[in-house]
Order: sequence, then C-alpha cells, then structure tokens
Amino acid sequence: MTKDDFIARGRRINFGALPYDLAHTVVICAFALAGWPISIYLPDSMVWAYVAFLFAGSIGYLWWSKRVDRSTGLLCHTCNRPMVRQAAKMAIDSNACPHCKKPAFAPEA
Ligand SMILES: [Zn+2]
Repeated sequence: MTKDDFIARGRRINFGALPYDLAHTVVICAFALAGWPISIYLPDSMVWAYVAFLFAGSIGYLWWSKRVDRSTGLLCHTCNRPMVRQAAKMAIDSNACPHCKKPAFAPEA
C-alpha cells in the first residue's frame, strides 16, 4: 500500500468506532480492584477462579483488539503489523514503521 492509499484508507475508517482502549483498560482494572474486597468473603477456590477469569479476559481482550486493528487493513508494507492510532500518525510523519523501523509504505508506482 502506498502512502497516499494508506492516508485515503485511514480517512475512510472512523477511528472513533475502533475499541476505546482507555475505557476498556479502566473496566478491566475496576474488575481487578473489585476482587480485593470480594476476596475477603469468598473461599480461596473462588478467588483463584476469579483471578483466572481476569487473566483469560485480559488475554482475550488483547487478542480481540489486535484482530480489530488488523481488520482496518492499515498494515506495514514490510512487517505486515497494523499501524493504527498513534502508530499511523508516526508512520505518516516519518515514512517508517514504528514497529520494525523499515519503510512503512510501498514505493509509488
Ligand atoms: Zn513494519
């Protein structure tokens, strides 16, 4: 994808519709902190089940978030990793992928 194609595609995507990372992080942390007072009243087995739920939920969230980022099609020309949000701005400014530091866009035809 050339830089012009990347910018045009980025404009078509409503970045506000992408997962709102900060809100999701606050919700996950709220669940984690809620476990503290709850753990006083629950047996150890339930507390460990809760910890496992939090861990699996965090891993699942990361996996889902990466999938959504890839679905935008805004990928590095060299390493094929998604460049969205701040990474997209950095790539457009520098022409280099923030992940692999190599050229982010295909040469103009
Ligand atoms: Zn790259």
